[in-house]
Order: sequence, then structure tokens, then C-alpha cells
Amino acid sequence: MKTTGIVRGIDSLGRIVLPKELRTNMHIDKDSKLEIFVEGDQIILKKHRPAGSCDFCGELAADMAQYEGYCICPACRAKIAAL
Ligand SMILES: [Zn+2]
Repeated sequence: MKTTGIVRGIDSLGRIVLPKELRTNMHIDKDSKLEIFVEGDQIILKKHRPAGSCDFCGELAADMAQYEGYCICPACRAKIAAL
């Protein structure tokens, strides 16, 4: 696990603000959902992705493809093909 070097406080309601740079880099916006895991004394936040969603963008589409264990939506397939 990589440290960000960021230390944040928790407010009186138990909320914590994820730094903007981290949200931008991780493609987390106001509608994103995070799953909360506990491992020993660690709290781990992970972007929630519905089962069968794209491994690259998290979207669900009717025409999902499987490749080498990855689930890929049509939009991401087009972006990859254009590389
Ligand atoms: Zn995608």
C-alpha cells in the first residue's frame, strides 16, 4: 500500500474530506460510491463498481466484452483501439 502523506481530521459527524487531487486522480466525483473495508487496524476505501461494470471506467453497458479477465465497455474498447 502506498502512502499519500496526507493527514486529515474527522469532523464531529465522523466525516472526512478526500483531497481534491486524490479525487481527481482516482476519478471520484460527487456521485461516486465508495466501499469501506476494514483490515486489522486499517480502514480502506475502494471505488464501488457494480458487478459486471467496466474495469476501466466503472460504467455498465449492454455490450460489455471480456478480455483476459477484464470487463470492458464499448467506449473504453474504442479508446483502446485508438491507441
Ligand atoms: Zn469503460
